[in-house]
Amino acid sequence: MKPIIMSDLKFDINSASLLRSLRLDEASDDAKTVLGLIEEAMKVAKPKAIFKEAFIDDKGHDYVIIDGFRFKSRVLRVNFDEVHRVFPYVVTAGRELDEWSNGVEGMLEQYWADQIKEFILGTAYNDFIARLTEAYGLGTTASMNPGSLEDWPISEQPKLFSLIGDPFQGIGVELTDSYLMVPAKSVSGIRYSTQVTYENCQLCSRENCPNRRAPYDPLLWEQRYK
Ligand code: SF4
Repeated sequence: MKPIIMSDLKFDINSASLLRSLRLDEASDDAKTVLGLIEEAMKVAKPKAIFKEAFIDDKGHDYVIIDGFRFKSRVLRVNFDEVHRVFPYVVTAGRELDEWSNGVEGMLEQYWADQIKEFILGTAYNDFIARLTEAYGLGTTASMNPGSLEDWPISEQPKLFSLIGDPFQGIGVELTDSYLMVPAKSVSGIRYSTQVTYENCQLCSRENCPNRRAPYDPLLWEQRYK
């Protein structure tokens, strides 16, 4: 299957919620600066996604082969137990937004711009998932992301990119030598249809993570993946 590009992802910023997360009083001068930055960012942002429909060729104890690419992970293998079709993807807030934020002056302003980009990526990602789920009738879905767990390290990222095709040519996302994505406000992974609730965070013990989406379950590894 050929990769598909979505270059019209919907995005938004809930400014009240952003100001709250930055701990800024809505009437303050700092809040006015942030609102000005939001206005600028909304004008330049062009978040995008690239994905493809792919099929599982084979599975072993701790690996799966998808369209000829072998991924080594016990969690991936167990989560794909009943799965035959998957959707590898990369979603990005976009280079346009990166170029804009590079021109923002001041340490504090740079930090605010970074948070604005994070919010834009979050809403664009939600739009991508909603459209993918509807287009392919996936029902309940979950994602696995290389690098989010020790079990599926970030060194598998180049294979994921090759499986998708050419994310750089498609949506301007490339990998550094240490497998990090540029622009940094990008997310990569494999989406799949499932009846079993799964979030990487369930297997991650990091304390006080601001992005935690599910509580850590210290028994889950033993119960489901060992
Ligand atoms: S808890 Fe935080 S670091 Fe751990 S997987 Fe979830 S988002 Fe990532």
